[in-house]
Amino acid sequence: MSCSLFIESEYCTREFSGSISAGNFYVTIDAMIAKETHRAETLDGRAVAEEIKFEVAAEVAALKSEHGVTPRLAAVLVGDDAASAVYVRNKIRACEDVGIASDHTPMPATTTTGELLSVVNALNRNDEVDGILVQLPLPKQIDDSVIIEAIDPAKDVDAFHPTNVGLLAMGRPRFVPCTPAGIIELLDRNKIEIAGMNACVVGRSQIVGRPVASLLLQRHATVTICHSQTRNLPDVTRQADILIAAIGRPAFIRGDYIKPGAIVIDVGVNTVTDVDEARDYFGNEAGKRIEAIERRGYTLVGDVHPAEADRVAGKRTPVPGGVGLLTVAMLMKNTLQAAKWRRGV
Ligand code: NAP
Repeated sequence: MSCSLFIESEYCTREFSGSISAGNFYVTIDAMIAKETHRAETLDGRAVAEEIKFEVAAEVAALKSEHGVTPRLAAVLVGDDAASAVYVRNKIRACEDVGIASDHTPMPATTTTGELLSVVNALNRNDEVDGILVQLPLPKQIDDSVIIEAIDPAKDVDAFHPTNVGLLAMGRPRFVPCTPAGIIELLDRNKIEIAGMNACVVGRSQIVGRPVASLLLQRHATVTICHSQTRNLPDVTRQADILIAAIGRPAFIRGDYIKPGAIVIDVGVNTVTDVDEARDYFGNEAGKRIEAIERRGYTLVGDVHPAEADRVAGKRTPVPGGVGLLTVAMLMKNTLQAAKWRRGV
């Protein structure tokens, strides 16, 4: 006899349809309970970032003692965007942690393209500077492509210059953009196989989506790139063994976008200020997040719905504590690399 059974849990109501047979029901309910309580393993970006920074610090120390060279990163921050200021501060702090020298040039929000160009050109000419970082986004009046193209490709540690973008697209990368490079390090250091896997990247930006897709392709994944015009997105993402979300929309990737057991890399960084949204996104973990909203006005969520993803994915990066920390660590690695190449050591 066919019938339906509804199971209501803290997170959802699920319907089961099937035929009555005592054994059958018990097995299926067990499977459903297992699904409801399954929790994806956390891919710890912090641990991998610390490991990378430790290795960079050792190489920086060796460079100093053996060749008298101290790598130097010059950071330029235009305007007073609070998030950008935090990002630059974190990068400068990471330089201090690994022994890289750093300069910070703050410029007013009214800076023109010409004024910023003069600063970039001076940094290009300064032989002491190995890496140049112009924090994006730039104020609207500045043409960011003019600035990116003005940075000496040999000092382009963000890897946004067309020369470095082209080399990466040709499979001969010199510098690799920090976030995509960090994602590959995270996969490698967690011994996650890439070759032969179905990888799906949602987002096709120049700084994340496209370069990470290039890197996955170079590592022999079968890569699908999705974007805002992709039809039937969940049907596409559900094919992925490795799913990378770089969209910029809070908790956009729901549980039913994810293949059971998939590796889910959440690049998004979005602020949540609403307590009910936080309760929905974080499920059992919502308490700490709600406390953060009450204390400082916001918490962070990625592009992946964490509570739902945890019930389906095999492994997942958290936000915060995932990809963001790797981005900074890879900037340190690129700056070290720039110093070695430029100074021929
Ligand atoms: P972006 O330049 O705004 O690109 C967003 C991409 O998402 C676009 O390709 C867009 O498609 C796609 N998209 C938007 N809505 C979509 C939809 N409904 N369905 C499918 N695709 C959709 O963003 P980004 O710079 O790559 O950044 C993405 C996120 O990552 C942001 O939250 C950002 O803050 C974060 N981020 C984090 C780090 C880190 O270190 N953790 C670094 C960089 C960025 P179209 O091309 O068709 O418009």
